[in-house]
Amino acid sequence: MSSLKEKTITVVGSGLIGRSWAMVFLSGGYKVKIYDNKAGQASAAISEIKKQLVELQQARMLRGNLSAAEQLSLLSSHDDLQQALEGAYFVQECVFEDLEAKQTVFQEVENLVTENVILSSSTSCLMPSNVFCRVKNQTRCIISHPVNPPYYVRLVELVPHPKTHETVMDVAYSLMTDVGQAPVRLRKEIDGFALNRVQYAIIAESWRLVQDGVISVKDIDLVMSEGLGMRYAFLGPIETMHLNAPEGIEDYLQRYSEGIKRVLTTFGPVPEFSGEAAARITKEISELIPGDQEHLTGRRERRDQMLMGLAKLKK
Ligand code: NAD
Repeated sequence: MSSLKEKTITVVGSGLIGRSWAMVFLSGGYKVKIYDNKAGQASAAISEIKKQLVELQQARMLRGNLSAAEQLSLLSSHDDLQQALEGAYFVQECVFEDLEAKQTVFQEVENLVTENVILSSSTSCLMPSNVFCRVKNQTRCIISHPVNPPYYVRLVELVPHPKTHETVMDVAYSLMTDVGQAPVRLRKEIDGFALNRVQYAIIAESWRLVQDGVISVKDIDLVMSEGLGMRYAFLGPIETMHLNAPEGIEDYLQRYSEGIKRVLTTFGPVPEFSGEAAARITKEISELIPGDQEHLTGRRERRDQMLMGLAKLKK
């Protein structure tokens, strides 16, 4: 990773995710042009990225082989979309999670770029067929869904529009691999993609267990952080099954599938996430971590520190 690439990527939207994508692409030696429709926002993003790259360099956590100064020399900010798109082969959209806003952005972008430029969205939970419905050539469209914070959590879900060309998936896959992310391909679009479907299953059952008085908020979070999460940082649920019986997955299914099915039939309905249960769960978590900015920022910094250490360990 990370010799100079002579290839340009345009990042549209310079919020949390736009800035993170910019840092990831810079680490791989790509030229990055960042645009935001709020005047001054893209240049403010550059100052923030500069600060972060310098801090990462000091902490010896800078990604790629280029120094912070070399990476910064590849970055420019633009208040004009046309200027920002000049020379780009890949456009990563990172505007608000608002369908209308994204549809308008892609319509505008398509009118300003040549036929072979790839149009990629960061959307967390909008379907590709909706996000790209105003684009004329939908074969070049893809969702590249990152996980927050993308600089440490490397997964990227690549989700095609029904008309997306396989070569577009391949180019996105190569780019993500080249910059050190860990891409996965979804073969077709589905609401929530893969990560959020799994995450929501975990949230739902955790919520039900607390709601029904089985366990406290503190303890259900420990079930993940001290239990399942320990191995899920290194292996997934299918490999877990394969390793958890002496003779592998077939043995596991023979031993445990009836028990799994029995437990699964006891799962409750989709929670409402409101009312008395929501008030109680909010109170419990707020007693552990008060919801003011000082405490939340402190916990986010701790999360990023831990993720940094884990990313090092996983290398
Ligand atoms: P954010 O609110 O931090 O930033 C959005 C930025 O887009 C702002 O700077 C805003 O000025 C700019 N913007 C809005 N409309 C624009 C337009 N028409 N043209 C150019 N710029 C425009 O949001 P975020 O958290 O960075 O999220 C961006 C996208 O990434 C969303 O689709 C979100 O779902 C997705 N995402 C977020 C996370 C997360 O944890 N925050 C994780 C994965 C994916």
